[in-house]
Amino acid sequence: MKITEIKIRKLNGTTECDPEFIEDRVVMPIDVYPEHRPLQRAGLPRVDDTHVSVEGIFVQIESDEGVVGVGGPLLGEHLGQIIIDRLAPMILGRDPRSVELLWDQMFRQSPDGRLGDTLMAISAVDCALWDLKGKAVGEPVARLIGGPTRERIPAYASMLSFSTDDLGLVRERASEWKAKGYRAQKWFFRHGPGSGNEGVDKNMALAETLRSELGVGYDLMFDAWMSWDLPFSLKMVRRLEDVDPRWGEEPLMPDRLDGHTELRQHTMIPISGGEHTMTRWGFKSVVEARAMDILQPDIYWTGGLSEALKVAALASVHDLQIMVHGFNNPANLQFSTAMSPSLTPLQENLVQWSPIFQHFLKEPTQPVDGDYLAPSTPGMGMEIDPDKIESETVVSA
Ligand SMILES: [Mg+2]
Repeated sequence: MKITEIKIRKLNGTTECDPEFIEDRVVMPIDVYPEHRPLQRAGLPRVDDTHVSVEGIFVQIESDEGVVGVGGPLLGEHLGQIIIDRLAPMILGRDPRSVELLWDQMFRQSPDGRLGDTLMAISAVDCALWDLKGKAVGEPVARLIGGPTRERIPAYASMLSFSTDDLGLVRERASEWKAKGYRAQKWFFRHGPGSGNEGVDKNMALAETLRSELGVGYDLMFDAWMSWDLPFSLKMVRRLEDVDPRWGEEPLMPDRLDGHTELRQHTMIPISGGEHTMTRWGFKSVVEARAMDILQPDIYWTGGLSEALKVAALASVHDLQIMVHGFNNPANLQFSTAMSPSLTPLQENLVQWSPIFQHFLKEPTQPVDGDYLAPSTPGMGMEIDPDKIESETVVSA
């Protein structure tokens, strides 16, 4: 089998969605600058009161046997450009099933792009190759990599973009999503060092409200999106201990491994992170520094499924858990349901964003009573639904 063409497809469509759904955002590292702290609303383009425009950029790898692999959505057209300009020449005419070979060659020819955008482009190509390989043999990728290890995996509701200012609304949402069958929720702190002690108090008001609403024993997690410093983190964990979160996510910027290590020495709260850590070597540094309890690679950013499998092996040797970041849920489910339940016990569902990320897919993943079902369709679950496409532009190599 040979790769005959690589396409970057930019799809446009319309989806049902409240145009005002982005009520707020998580705290960000740039919030130490006061002018950046307010919410700058950059929602999706409004069509009418109940619809927004969506754009999805996908890489499509075609073969001489008619089997096609799809990866995406890509976070920006520039990633498509990297695929066309830099990666396509390395893989055109090659056997798409030799995923490890192609990954290794793409990576070895991109030493200046081994982190960041080029690696994200390699990740998308890797996932498209796995999709093609699964479709070629008619099996879900989870089966090709040794799974499924179970029929269902619990999802946790990840509440990005909900307001956390209005605590009445927080209570309402928390109980609404609990009632849908979710046995775990993650909420996003809005305040960091730029907001001082008042920020600590506001974060704690959110955490305590959620604990009182969801009850003792309900799994509750919090995400600070890399935006704290060590003193602020120490203040937070001291008070958060009483709320008993299952984990605290990305307290510090990803390269501050010493800070993570020191924080871990001061708290019983498991510290997680890794969605912005790339490749097995990035995670090797995390593991060696004893910086995190839970690793959260993003399959589409860390190097693709091929690389996530190596991170999984590394984590398992050190008895760390992996909760992959909830960006591309079809890929995440292939991965998570093929690992031991002790390694990957839970799967994130960004409840507001995952339907948008998956808008153009024929079979978007969706939890049932709080659980995802193990994937059953061939490949990575990346079949584009032509009925969702209103317009399309294609660049190919
Ligand atoms: Mg996160």
